[in-house]
Amino acid sequence: MRERHELFQVIDALEDQSRVKVAAVAPSVRVAMSEEFGLPPGRVSMGQIVAGLKLLGFDYVFDTNFSADLTIMEEGTELLSRLRKDPGAGPLPMFTSCCPGWINLVEKNYPELIPHLSSCKSPQGMMGALIKNVWAPRLERDPADVVSVSVMPCTAKKGEAHRPADRGATYSSKIDGPVPNNDYVLTTREIGRLFRLRKIALPALDAQVPDDPLGESTGAAVLFGATGGVMEAALRTAYELASGGQELPKMEMSDIRGLQGVKSSRVCIPNPDGKGPGAVVRVGVVHGTAETRALLERMKLGDPAAQFDFVEVMACRGGCIGGGGQSKSDDALVLQKRMAHVYNLDEKSALRKSHDNPSIQKLYESELGRPGSARSHALLHTHYADRSEQTT
Ligand code: SF4
Repeated sequence: MRERHELFQVIDALEDQSRVKVAAVAPSVRVAMSEEFGLPPGRVSMGQIVAGLKLLGFDYVFDTNFSADLTIMEEGTELLSRLRKDPGAGPLPMFTSCCPGWINLVEKNYPELIPHLSSCKSPQGMMGALIKNVWAPRLERDPADVVSVSVMPCTAKKGEAHRPADRGATYSSKIDGPVPNNDYVLTTREIGRLFRLRKIALPALDAQVPDDPLGESTGAAVLFGATGGVMEAALRTAYELASGGQELPKMEMSDIRGLQGVKSSRVCIPNPDGKGPGAVVRVGVVHGTAETRALLERMKLGDPAAQFDFVEVMACRGGCIGGGGQSKSDDALVLQKRMAHVYNLDEKSALRKSHDNPSIQKLYESELGRPGSARSHALLHTHYADRSEQTT
């Protein structure tokens, strides 16, 4: 099997002067991009990637970290609703839904777990929906006038862009029909190849900031790049929302960091009034398909050490820093090095909690209302299908 290349379609699209060209860059791409230029992980900044994409001909460069923050707002709210057992809320444990490799595994091999999946689209899915449905109309452009290119660490993201909720989900009056939310997905390797083809040396460029209004992000968002990061980011927000504004005693959750196959922790969320024992949330983190299958088996058999309320699953070892579209490396410690840069970027961030992102707050004020609103559901949530009978 080989990945489906979309590089030459993107090269053609970049020459089309009639359309607006937009790129959005995933959290883990920024820690691996330097390897495309023969440098160790973390030597090229997001700002240099933005500058390089502008030189390639993209009119706007957004940051998928923005939609990672948005994912946390929606997913954290969904988790709290399930914990409260609100009417219509899905069952526990809730599983994360941002990894298409994991979603494919559930739909094909564990369809009985579909109700347990968060209904949130991935950050890529949310970004595409916002670009075509919110940002393009503000620019007074039809969605068909915009080409959106998602830069990802992941070959499975190419398939995700073809899911019904993403492909043909947005109506264009110009062509009187549907258009995709994400037109193309390029891997870190593909975009690295394009930079080299165009002789754009990222390490030598001056950094530029991603464009507004989909470019601002927090340290929580960059954590999506490493195993355990989605969980850590979600808890920073869910804890504060559920406890009436109290902060997690410690921002970094060392129990769920690192490359151990299965990690777990317990978080006690105090009651908003400070009275009573509060709620204990049991969280689990797993990465790699074999480890995931083994954990699901233990959960099914009732292993007391494998009973959780919220589980993060990433199909690749290490999470997206080890994605199938990342740079190939001979360094045995490459995952540890990329992971260290993810944590470093979070630590250096001025804002480290998704709900503190001012651009996210503005988006809710102007467009979405509140997390979990009808508008949020229409744009940012998805559904799943039992594909266990499917042969291809
Ligand atoms: S863990 Fe792997 S399959 Fe899942 S989103 Fe990240 S790169 Fe893609």
